[in-house]
Parts: sequence; C-alpha cells; structure tokens
Amino acid sequence: MSSLEPVTRSFPAPSRHAPAARKRRGALRSACAALLVVAVVSGCGTAQGALQASTPPSAPPAAPSGATVTPPGGSGPSEPPSAPTAPGTRPPAGSDAAAAPSATAPGRTPGAPRPGSPQPAPGAPTAGTPTAGTPTTGTPPAQPAPPPAAPGVSAALVAGTAHGGRTVALTFDDGPGPATGQVLDVLAQYGARATFCQIGPQAAANPAMVKRILAAGHRLCDHSVHHPQPFAALSHDRQVEEIVPARDMIVRAGGAGTEVPWFRAPGGGFTAANQQVAAAAGMRPLTWTVDTRDWSRPGVPAIVASVQRGLRPGGVVLMHDGGGDRSQTVAALRQLLPWLTAQGYGFDFPAV
Ligand SMILES: [Zn+2]
Repeated sequence: MSSLEPVTRSFPAPSRHAPAARKRRGALRSACAALLVVAVVSGCGTAQGALQASTPPSAPPAAPSGATVTPPGGSGPSEPPSAPTAPGTRPPAGSDAAAAPSATAPGRTPGAPRPGSPQPAPGAPTAGTPTAGTPTTGTPPAQPAPPPAAPGVSAALVAGTAHGGRTVALTFDDGPGPATGQVLDVLAQYGARATFCQIGPQAAANPAMVKRILAAGHRLCDHSVHHPQPFAALSHDRQVEEIVPARDMIVRAGGAGTEVPWFRAPGGGFTAANQQVAAAAGMRPLTWTVDTRDWSRPGVPAIVASVQRGLRPGGVVLMHDGGGDRSQTVAALRQLLPWLTAQGYGFDFPAV
C-alpha cells in the first residue's frame, strides 16, 4: 500500500494444494465461466453490480466527522506493520514499536494526518460508505470471478452494529495472545461483550482461550491464517487460502457449533473479490469506524481519546489483543468501558 507497509513476511510457500482446494478452484473456474457468459449477455459491470447489490440489513452509521475515523478498505495502515506470526515465532515485545513507522510516535494527535502516510485518493470511499465493488488498487488484474455468496450472507462491508442506535461494537484483532485473558477480565468487569478477530493458527494453538471467549458470550471473527499485508495484493488463490482455512481452525478450536460470522482482512485490505470469498464461506466482511491505533502503543490517553472523539452511535472500534505488548490497550479499556457506559452506550456485536 505504501512505504509504511511492511514487506510481507515469508510464509510457508503455498506450493501444495489439497485435492479439496483443487476442487474448490475447479468450482470457482466453472462459476467464472458461467459468469463470463452472463457478462457477455448483460455486460460485466451489470453482472458485477448484481453481485454487489445485496446491501447489509442495517446500513452502516453515518460517517462520523471525527478525524479519527479510518476509511474502510485499507486506505491507511491500521494494523501492526509486523504481521503476527505463528505461535512460538512471535517477535519479542517491543519489536512492533521498532518496526512501526516513526509517524506513529507517542504524542501524535489521534487521527491527525501522519507525515508520509497514504491519503485516500480523491473520491475514495469514506467510513459509512461500504466499498463493495471497489477493488483496491494493487489487486492483481486477472481475478477469477468471485463465487456467489452463501445464501443470506451479504458481501457488503459491515461498518456498524447489529442494533444501531446508541450501541458500539468493540473488536479485538490479532489474537488470541498473552493479553486476551486480561481483555476478557476487563470486559467481564463491565459486562461488555466484544468480537475477537483471530489468527487461525493462534486459535488452533490456544483452544482453551477460544472456548473461554465463547463461554463469556463474545463472538469470533476470522482474521486470516498468516496476516499477510497488503492483503489485497495477494493472488486470489492465496487470499482464499488465508480466509477459509483460518475460519476452519477457529471453528475447530471453539468446538462443535462454533460460529464465525465475520471476516476482517489484515490491514483492512478488502476487495470486492475477497469480500465475495468471505461471504461465500458464510462470513460478512467486517471493517471499522474508529481506529485506535493501539498496536502502535501511542499511550493510554491517545487510545482513550481516539474513541472519545471518533465514536458515533452504531460504531465499530478497532483494538488489538494480540500482536505484541497490549498493556496500553488493557489500561485504555479500563477507562473506556466505564466512559462508554456513562455515555449511554450499549455493547453490541457487528451487524450480520
Ligand atoms: Zn490484524
């Protein structure tokens, strides 16, 4: 996406594909051929438009005017530049800060433009205007036609809560990690519920924590297998291999009946194609309206202020329970939860 984005870490080469994966791709190609026929008859844009026409049951909240709002679609770095790694290979605490762009130095006004940070292109979508149908630049040009969404699952970005009104959806990415238990403790103290966007192998390595999250009444979200960035630049096959197996790992960790209603692309790197992949697997693509940038450890006051300034009713807050030292996040949560309650906010899940 920009110079601020890290070079994608090297992951195990996806040189082997299970027969099931081949079958899946075969099915995708068949769907592609069928869609091509439709495209010839009705025009590609029309076919694509029809696929994207399914709007979310509840419209995202109006775009907050606060500068802390991050446009969905990965227009700016919103996550640790160093991707979470497989259990056992996680970088030591502090490595995030070392790798983080200097523009994220503590003291920066939350939401203020970051020197050198990528700015949305003119006409770029803003929060509250889902970008379904707007492929992110950098997407490989030759994309197979996306599979149809699972019945009842929209591929449109979710950027609001299930119930709207004076509610908030707290979301925690990149876990489960060492801080997840503390986050759960604070949430329980204030009777708050949240959504955890998990890295597949980390869920697989800590099924007890996944089960604890579910037992406490929280919900789960798929956040890929390896957290590669920029996610939208991966080939279609690589994206499928990041999205679907991670969901399966999370379900196995949670046990029978575990639901994973959402997918969040690493760094918010959504495209129309990967949103369709998620929807076909039964998951709504989930973005956010308030980016706390807690992963950059900007200081507890900055994290708290980003929510206090940027949140509007029905908003989705992005925080992290994994990916490094999350002590600032936990401390900020201790202030934010009573503040949210005092402001009359109810804790909700994202729309489905
Ligand atoms: Zn992430």
